[in-house]
Amino acid sequence: MKLLLDGMLGRLAKWLRLLGYDTAYFPNLDDHELVRLARAQGRVLLTRDRELTRRRGMSCLLVESDELEEQIQQAITELHLETEQPFSRCPVCNTPLQEAEKLSVKGRVPPYVFRTKEHFSLCPECDRIYWQGTHWDNMRQEIAHIRSDHPTKDHQTKEEEANCNQ
Ligand SMILES: [Zn+2]
Repeated sequence: MKLLLDGMLGRLAKWLRLLGYDTAYFPNLDDHELVRLARAQGRVLLTRDRELTRRRGMSCLLVESDELEEQIQQAITELHLETEQPFSRCPVCNTPLQEAEKLSVKGRVPPYVFRTKEHFSLCPECDRIYWQGTHWDNMRQEIAHIRSDHPTKDHQTKEEEANCNQ
């Protein structure tokens, strides 16, 4: 599933990328361009704008909350997102990450990190390096927390809520 987020959902976009989903986010697109991109690339549009969800010819999800955690929860639940393999895509530019040899990141990460970590990922597009540190652990816990908070919601979701064609 490929996603497209409107200009109000930048923080959610980073999370969805970290979960591994191809998430397009261009904060400066107007409504017309958003709709055109969603249709052209077959992306599900996530938006805070009820008016946008009435457009035909694409799938979309009306994001109901301004709170990031509730937005993540709604997206995971209603789009049936998998959360088992996070941290596979660059949160900044949406490119799938590649494994990086430890020696290749020497001098490019803090010395303490280089000494204590064995596994690194590289974004081939923007050249950022990622590793499993505190931030990573925090996000894992956050995802686990969100999932355990709403253990039964998966079964209550109606398919048509994620689709505005009907
Ligand atoms: Zn990147």
